[in-house]
Amino acid sequence: MNATILELTDIRKHYTNGDTTVRALDGVSLRVKRGEFVAIMGQSGSGKSTLMNIIGCLDRPTSGSYKVLGREAANLSPDELASLRRETFGFIFQRYNLLATATAGENVAIPSVYAGLPKHKRTTHANELLQRLGLDDRTDHRPSELSGGQQQRVAIARALVNDPPVILADEPTGALDSKSGDEVLALLKKLHAEGRTIILITHAENVAQHAGRIVRIQDGRIIEDTGMVNDDEPVENLAADSRSFESAVSLMASMEEALVTAWRSLRVNIFRTILTLLGIIIGVSAVVAMLAVGEGSRQKVLDRISSFGTNLMLIRPGAAGIRNTGDIATLVPDDAAALKALPNIAAALAERGGRATVRLGNIDYQTSVQGTGEDFPSARDWPVAEGQFFNTDDMKHYAAVVVLGRTVTKTLFPDGANPVGKYVLLKNVPFLVTGVMTEKGASPNGSDQDDVIFVPITTGLVRLFGKNYLSSITLKVTDAADIEATQTNVETLLKERHKTEDFSVRNMASFLQAAMETQDTFTLLLGTVAAISLLVGGIGVMNIMLVSVVERTREIGIRMATGARMRDILLQFNIEAAVVCAAGGILGILIGIAAGLVLRYSGMAVIFSVAPAVLAFACASATGLIFGYLPARKAAQLDPVIALASE
Ligand code: ADP
Repeated sequence: MNATILELTDIRKHYTNGDTTVRALDGVSLRVKRGEFVAIMGQSGSGKSTLMNIIGCLDRPTSGSYKVLGREAANLSPDELASLRRETFGFIFQRYNLLATATAGENVAIPSVYAGLPKHKRTTHANELLQRLGLDDRTDHRPSELSGGQQQRVAIARALVNDPPVILADEPTGALDSKSGDEVLALLKKLHAEGRTIILITHAENVAQHAGRIVRIQDGRIIEDTGMVNDDEPVENLAADSRSFESAVSLMASMEEALVTAWRSLRVNIFRTILTLLGIIIGVSAVVAMLAVGEGSRQKVLDRISSFGTNLMLIRPGAAGIRNTGDIATLVPDDAAALKALPNIAAALAERGGRATVRLGNIDYQTSVQGTGEDFPSARDWPVAEGQFFNTDDMKHYAAVVVLGRTVTKTLFPDGANPVGKYVLLKNVPFLVTGVMTEKGASPNGSDQDDVIFVPITTGLVRLFGKNYLSSITLKVTDAADIEATQTNVETLLKERHKTEDFSVRNMASFLQAAMETQDTFTLLLGTVAAISLLVGGIGVMNIMLVSVVERTREIGIRMATGARMRDILLQFNIEAAVVCAAGGILGILIGIAAGLVLRYSGMAVIFSVAPAVLAFACASATGLIFGYLPARKAAQLDPVIALASE
């Protein structure tokens, strides 16, 4: 004799709507033994579905006791109920309740996903079941490609996949033609013969006749039971056998399922997804492109500054902050000489420049003439290629000597002859060429640095410029780390000599720092733009996920009925949001790189770096997790009965 596995005692389910109370179940007591085939019969509205939902642990009664395998259902947590639905019951519904986007095989496998079966076992098992039910050639078809009878057989396979002892069938033939209906009933009988407990709900007498025991229900009460189980019969008690609810395997399986579902729903709604992601795509691509441009411009500034040298200091006439209009006659060569005597000063170049025409034979060429000191090549790190730079003697004796830049050399000596030792005319005075500079190339701002002639500053002031004051003094310090202290000394000395602060001193290190600070501000600005767009994007994602939860309420119900825990649903929707956002992040990065490449092509300095892309991607994914949480929680907290009943 088999023992009782389901035991309902005085179960009531009342629905209150304003003043009226509907007693859907009004004191139902029922015991079902293992291996029974019970038909619960009654007219529409008699309370059959309500009873079925309570037996299947999809719904909780208003009052009364319900024991499954000896365990009181009222005492179980939602996750323990999910586990009962997964391992004890297999559901068959009138309207099949298959997931429309999943194939027959995938639909069958869903309960085993939540039971934590590894993927290959799930697939083989599902295929075996489909084969048994004569659907082996339909494994990869979606529900819309199957007939009603075939869909119901898929649903039966799904109900069997976790090998549950009890099959609950709610009007399984209600939507089928009589032939398919008979097939389904034959199947149920076969399952019963194999030892399963079958509970069949129907309003049709001829269907109920297939069962061994008929329980008639009317207005929420049992009016007839053809196979009442006596109270003194044994009760099966499996309370001790509490299977573990949380296994790492089932978490993995559930994540896998979540990823697949996420990818699918993303593809199905591709246009909507892209619209939703626009905020994130724009944000991420803007960050990637703008940071690349920022990095490019920063590098450009850095190059320009360091090509001048970070161990250099520049003194200009005129007080700092006051616009330099015309010539200011304050800096003189003696200042340079005095500064040179200060500690930590390696070189002091007195400088003045101007434009002049240089002539050789019948070639006239307008170029820049720079008067400077003999230390110029070492101070500016710009060596001579041929001959020599002028020396201290040349400086002292106002020698008429010049050193040519490359461009000037090429213009005056197009045949490639060596200019050293030749004479060129500047203001009709012959100057001896003592050397030729190495090629320096274009400056970062595009001007040709080799288009220049260097003369001793002494000679220049007297013979070429006709003035005895300087346009700048360039100082080179020995130890760049001490540049700030040295600058203070320089300022003190000059103030002493001039009796007033009619000059300004700038060092390249401070330029560098200013440039860095500008860059930091720029980065902060970009960060803010990115944060705002991710916020806007995140709200968009949250919005669409909330819509998606509403749209897919039924799917959630089906998953819950087939054993998904709250955790699984939470995970599914959260992963979905994260996947969507991550996809947006990747798209954003690609678009950002494309935009950067276009800008580079149009001549901008663009330098891509990995960090911003990684950061933007991580932020986008995190946005998905954060903004996906609320909709996911909403989904997870849905009541399975209500979710299943939704259209
Ligand atoms: P059956 O499955 O036999 O057609 P149901 O169990 O669906 O009957 O319903 C039994 C009674 O309970 C009906 O009168 C129905 O209107 C009522 N009922 C069912 N669900 C709800 C609900 N969620 N809210 C209010 N009344 C309900």
